[in-house]
Amino acid sequence: MRRAQKKLTPPGLAVCPQCHEPKLPHYTCLNCGTYKGQAVIQVEEA
Ligand SMILES: [Zn+2]
Repeated sequence: MRRAQKKLTPPGLAVCPQCHEPKLPHYTCLNCGTYKGQAVIQVEEA
């Protein structure tokens, strides 16, 4: 058994490098509004 991976995300999911929330790969993170380190959309903060 090989289990070398650390903290897997479910298939079809990526982790936002900005806020580390799971997000759709190749999509803007809806949590912080960034994509590839750039703010793409405006996110309202509670
Ligand atoms: Zn994010």
